[in-house]
Amino acid sequence: MNQTIQTTCPYCGVGCGISAQVDAANRCVTINGDDSHPANFGRLCSKGSALGDTIELKGRLLQPSVYGRETNWTEALDLVADRFLDTIQKYGPDAVAIYGSGQLLTEDYYVANKLMKGFIGSGNMDTNSRLCMSSSVAGHKRAFGADTVPGCYEDYEHAELIILIGSNTAWCHPVSFQRIRAAKEANPSLKIVVIDPRRTASCDIADLHLPLASGSDAWLFNGLLNYVGHASRTNPTYIEQHTEGFAEALAAAENAGISQVAEQCRVNIEDLQRFYEWFATTDKVMSLYSQGINQSSSGTDKVNAIINCHLATGKIGKPGSGPFSLTGQPNAMGGREVGGLSHQLAAHMDFANVDDIDRVARFWGSRQIATKPGLPAVDLFDAIYDGKVKAVWIMGTNPVVSLPNADKVKQALQRCEFVVVSDCIANTDTTALAHVLLPAQGWSEKDGTVTNSERRISRQRALFKPAGNAKPDWWILTQVAQRMRFEQAFPYQSPVEIFREHAALSGFENNGSRDFDISAFADITQENYDRLQPTQWPVNQQYPQGRARLFDDGRFYTPSGKAQFIAITPSAPGMLPNADYPLILNTGRLRDQWHTMTRTAIAAKLNQHKPEPFVEIHPDDAARYGLIQNGLASIESRWGEMLARVQITGSQLPGNVFVPMHWTAQHASHGRMGALVNPFVDPVSKQPESKHTPVRIKAYQPVWQGFILSRHEFTAITSAYWVKIKGEQFYRYELAGDLIPNDWLEWANLNTGVTAPQWQEYQDTAKGNYRAALLVDNRLESVIFISRQNQFPERSWLTSLFVKTELDKTERMALLTGLPPQGVNDTGAIVCACFNIGEQTIKTAIKDQGLTSHQEVGCCLKAGTNCGSCVPEIKLLLLEHG
Ligand code: SF4
Repeated sequence: MNQTIQTTCPYCGVGCGISAQVDAANRCVTINGDDSHPANFGRLCSKGSALGDTIELKGRLLQPSVYGRETNWTEALDLVADRFLDTIQKYGPDAVAIYGSGQLLTEDYYVANKLMKGFIGSGNMDTNSRLCMSSSVAGHKRAFGADTVPGCYEDYEHAELIILIGSNTAWCHPVSFQRIRAAKEANPSLKIVVIDPRRTASCDIADLHLPLASGSDAWLFNGLLNYVGHASRTNPTYIEQHTEGFAEALAAAENAGISQVAEQCRVNIEDLQRFYEWFATTDKVMSLYSQGINQSSSGTDKVNAIINCHLATGKIGKPGSGPFSLTGQPNAMGGREVGGLSHQLAAHMDFANVDDIDRVARFWGSRQIATKPGLPAVDLFDAIYDGKVKAVWIMGTNPVVSLPNADKVKQALQRCEFVVVSDCIANTDTTALAHVLLPAQGWSEKDGTVTNSERRISRQRALFKPAGNAKPDWWILTQVAQRMRFEQAFPYQSPVEIFREHAALSGFENNGSRDFDISAFADITQENYDRLQPTQWPVNQQYPQGRARLFDDGRFYTPSGKAQFIAITPSAPGMLPNADYPLILNTGRLRDQWHTMTRTAIAAKLNQHKPEPFVEIHPDDAARYGLIQNGLASIESRWGEMLARVQITGSQLPGNVFVPMHWTAQHASHGRMGALVNPFVDPVSKQPESKHTPVRIKAYQPVWQGFILSRHEFTAITSAYWVKIKGEQFYRYELAGDLIPNDWLEWANLNTGVTAPQWQEYQDTAKGNYRAALLVDNRLESVIFISRQNQFPERSWLTSLFVKTELDKTERMALLTGLPPQGVNDTGAIVCACFNIGEQTIKTAIKDQGLTSHQEVGCCLKAGTNCGSCVPEIKLLLLEHG
């Protein structure tokens, strides 16, 4: 019998609630949004909706292994504990490290942090959240004295002006974007400003888009501070009563007059004036910012430049107002709560305060607690490369893909004496380098809590029994801690015990001195933990039901109780474009993929929107560098290179290119953007500058291009360039090569692994075209298209043939002519992932039925009527073809 379980989405920081109808016997689940969850009220985006397609066991890591040999938990855990103890004994505690992830649950994170900082005695516990929002953490700490997100999602409905800064919210936090769209529809006077060098899908609802020069955000917000200061639009009472340092911050912004800012940011002065005027004259303003601000070598300053403007005008701590950091990962916030970054200790306490160190040591009963920060991510992998860190344990993340200068990270792990990786996926670029692999439970098996961008703690609940021999991360850590002779401090048998201890530590000697306080949960029973409803911290004696907004009382967590202005001097990025590397590389997320695709690439429907790594480039630059639409290009930086499909678009500024962050060596031969990204970091937050790497670009002109569609996954591909895409009952391989094989049939056999094929072939040697199809009992097994001209049909018609048990004669003929049979329409690239509606289908409907709005397209085709993530693209098609 099916059971309904409420849990949370494991992807982005919106933290949507899910209502899962679980068929445990058949290990399948129907996913719906949880109507009662305050983060999404039933809405889900394309990724969340497709979660049911990601739980298959194929590709899962199911058994521990040691040096490539499968083993049992006892041997694997003994080895990890022994090697860590041995390394510590020989080289000291700083010779070992843990590198975690915003995918871990809070309970997992708590145990990892306690083990490393409290008992191993090193600060070397860092996390991939360092790449995501550590600049926000540092900016909050400088301004507020604590890492506090002041507001909540409900503020979208109260705001009169919402500014999206360095955030493609439409794709990266889609349910929040839909909520903002709905707020604007309900209140048309709500203004939306998008500040981003790219014209992204988020501009769909913008009243104003400021395409500022990459990296110039601090100028823009210094200019705003200067503007409100000179226009007498500050709030002197608020400044006087609740802040310090205003005069210094204003003086630092003195040179940021409006024309100077327009020049530095390369934006239209009238648009700039309009934005400043809107901010100055609007009472309720929210500034939502994300990686475009954080991932910078001056990200912390940019965060404080934004916060300064809110403090100067008192637009903070009240409904509809405040700076709001959109966290990237599902539990980045939970990681911050437990001290998951290497400079943090635990429960929003730091190494910077000796009283905090003493307090946490007493609470944990530790005599060997670390007393200084450990290494942040980039420095940590440098230290591994240099042989200073000799044993590392990587949990639930893929640094060989995601860290900057990723080829060096790969070399670092190749050199490292002892690499442990715990993950739920067997084959990743990082698991390939592990000496010990530990199978962790996946999303649908894990039990614990996560915290979203608005400080809301929600339960993630197990839907299924663990796959194979997979274990919870907290259990794996506890077992290793016990083997390292810390059993007294690590007695955990269940997540609720860890949650209680975490809650108790948050309230320990707190007395209102620290923002993070969930002491009301310190004695929570198993039953209440199981029933826990989404709640925003703090949750303590004063706020037993949680608290939607902080700083409404004008009280901050600095020694004086006042918020701090930070005087900002805008600084240049770590490396500027030059004659060798004249373009600026920007990186970011796609609508339907998540991080390094280990889960989203399993869901066929999520792979059809953007199937290949691509590079977006302005038409002028494309002409300058001889690039053609849909051709291939090589992008090269001082650190590495990649190959990507060219997308020429006016949404890029001249001099800028954009590549998505997701592709790995498992999915593409040359798609790892991390190999190019520079390793410059922010001096305060240590967050890498993933949005600004100087690069050069040139056309890559292979001798031939082509694709294979096959019912079966291949083990080896011989072409110079390949991309693997999973579809509905097929795998798609996009290919290119520098050498023409002597015999295409032999090549086809080699690549498809078919030994006795009955291929039907078509070859035009003069034009360089080769096509082949393999059918068994009239069921399509594989089809190959090769061309020297790069002229191919849309793949969607061909891929639709794989769901058929038998092809008719016309379809079989069409396979070799390379064109759909008469009357069969090609749906084109998928726009609406929820209902599988292609671009061609939408264009035809617009034209034939005279559709004029996305609502009409929705009525006609259903496209855009579920998660709404594709609405901006539908509107673009209406604009171009209506
Ligand atoms: Fe998941 Fe999408 Fe919600 Fe983010 S917006 S939590 S990815 S459903």
